[in-house]
Amino acid sequence: MYSIHHLFRKVLIIACPLCGMAARAGDLCEGCARDVLRIHQSGAWCLQCAVRVDQGRQRCNQCVHANPAYIQTITAMDYAYPGALLVRGLKERGRLAEAGLFARMLANTLATHPHALPALGALVPIPSSRASLQKRGFSPAAEIARALSAQLTVPLKPWLQRTREGGIQKALDFEARRQSVRGLYDCIRTVPPVWVGVVDDVLTSGSTMHEAALALKRAGALGAVALVAARTAWAPTLPETEM
Ligand SMILES: [Zn+2]
Ligand SMILES: [Zn+2]
Repeated sequence: MYSIHHLFRKVLIIACPLCGMAARAGDLCEGCARDVLRIHQSGAWCLQCAVRVDQGRQRCNQCVHANPAYIQTITAMDYAYPGALLVRGLKERGRLAEAGLFARMLANTLATHPHALPALGALVPIPSSRASLQKRGFSPAAEIARALSAQLTVPLKPWLQRTREGGIQKALDFEARRQSVRGLYDCIRTVPPVWVGVVDDVLTSGSTMHEAALALKRAGALGAVALVAARTAWAPTLPETEM
């Protein structure tokens, strides 16, 4: 028996959120899906942080040197035109339907991903700063996590909290950025020994994701994987060397 919501999604043909062409309600049209989704694209990306790497490489230099506390990153798309418009639609224009779209995109990516994840016991959103919550009235990461929890039937657990306010200085280089967010999160309770999917909208340097994963492991989690709607290109600060 379909729920009303499910039934509407099955039969409603409305505009693709990117190009306005016909698409199944809330989803991208076939053309935009091909342009945006990594699962349709060739190329290689770092297993740990999902940055694009040269063909044949498993991990980027940064992950080899800095070894983030999360073992793997799943992302649906690159943070690049035109997919980045969807992220901006959610974050800047409050288009909450995009959170559901990202959750379906991530679930599809997971279903076709060549490296299986450990079974996840919880999905935990990265908490927004108080200032961005006040500005937007919602947390993009929490909205995506809630939709993804329903898609994957993995419980949503808002276990993380910020230990301090203050923005993250985006212009810093990797090492300075990592220092600036050190200890940014802790857990509101002891965490059971499960693998946790840490959810965010965009992964940039991975510094905040690293801190979130560290906090969850300190509180008892077995380990963490990153689940993010989009991955930015990240200019490596380390010299390119062959692995
Ligand atoms: Zn389209
Ligand atoms: Zn990496």
